[in-house]
Amino acid sequence: MSARNILVINCGSSSIKFALVNEAQETFILSGLAERLGSPEAVLHWQQGEHKDSLVLSGADHRLALSHLLPIVQQAAAGALHGIGHRVVHGGEYFSSATRLDAVSLQAIRQVAPLAPLHNPANLQGIEAAMKLFPDLVQVAVFDTAFHQSLPEHAYRYAVPEALYREHGVRRYGFHGTSHRYVSQQAAQMAGLPADASSWLVAHLGNGCSTCAVENGHSLDTSMGLTPLEGLVMGTRSGDVDPNLHSHLARTLGWSLEQIDAMLNKDSGLLGLSGLSNDMRTLEQAREQGHAGASLAIEVFCYRLAKSLAAMSCALRRLDGLIFTGGIGENSALIRSRTLDHLSLLGLKLDAQANARCVRGVAGAIHAEGHTRVLVVPTNEERQIALDTLALLD
Ligand code: ADP
Repeated sequence: MSARNILVINCGSSSIKFALVNEAQETFILSGLAERLGSPEAVLHWQQGEHKDSLVLSGADHRLALSHLLPIVQQAAAGALHGIGHRVVHGGEYFSSATRLDAVSLQAIRQVAPLAPLHNPANLQGIEAAMKLFPDLVQVAVFDTAFHQSLPEHAYRYAVPEALYREHGVRRYGFHGTSHRYVSQQAAQMAGLPADASSWLVAHLGNGCSTCAVENGHSLDTSMGLTPLEGLVMGTRSGDVDPNLHSHLARTLGWSLEQIDAMLNKDSGLLGLSGLSNDMRTLEQAREQGHAGASLAIEVFCYRLAKSLAAMSCALRRLDGLIFTGGIGENSALIRSRTLDHLSLLGLKLDAQANARCVRGVAGAIHAEGHTRVLVVPTNEERQIALDTLALLD
């Protein structure tokens, strides 16, 4: 049988990211983005090998954008498309692994939408459009939360009244599961250890950031919670704050829930601390030039990350290594080094040259000799979603 092709789709409220993945190739056959959907500026961009192209789609919605994408995908796949894998943010307690999409699984995804009101409805729009456009293809949902369904109850419960959990699903779910799973498997391979008999701390640092403790292929704890706001400092998200901040701001400033929500999700994190940018590259440059806000944002980011990793180590009985991934984790030698400065008690120390070498997609070990393993592992959520889709085809 020749190598199969899977289209991976990640629908946001006004965008569709996509990649055409061939099971035998590391690089994507085709990848791209439809953005500003629903507006006059809607546009589809794609890249196939060195060739880049775009198509103006004024006013197009998700379905129209997908219908324009279809012939481009068919041509790139030479007519051989074997399935579609959809990224879905929230699977609640229904899904601990990927699932084939049918009436029953779609209903379950709809039911957990209140837990991810921004994300799941957008994911559903893409799924419904794709199911209408490609009725004969197997379609699969891969959930950001699924990998963390193995958390023990003492890690996923909040210390709030039980009825909130039992009746309203208030618990910690965790996100970025596809990435944590992918990079911990890759790390085991790189270290020559079996994935089902090795223990890892993972720092996924992109625009959203989370840590995870993985033992024998299972997530045992993670820093994000009921929503992706909990835990680390992120691009524009605050991460952990005193939960009483809400009532404090309402009482003292008269802020509404919507204002507080927007402040914590969109105006905080690196952007809020620095007063400059949510982008780590910009902050590193500004720090070089003596920008105090940028320096502070970087220090808080690294300290909070180190604190979270130390906390995650409570979940593990052994540590085979720490993994850095995501745009920041894969590229920023500075962030890796400042973070590890706080973690010498865990026996972690970097080799400065190896740390400097592992950027722009270069994977490798960056720990100093005789110290616990630290690895830079580029994530590839699209590939993992394609592999999960293929596994359900078989
Ligand atoms: P997303 O979560 O949207 O997938 P990415 O994983 O691409 O995001 O990560 C985006 C972050 O990675 C941004 O903060 C960006 O500045 C940072 N980043 C990318 N390249 C570098 C670099 N060379 N040095 C420092 N940070 C980088």
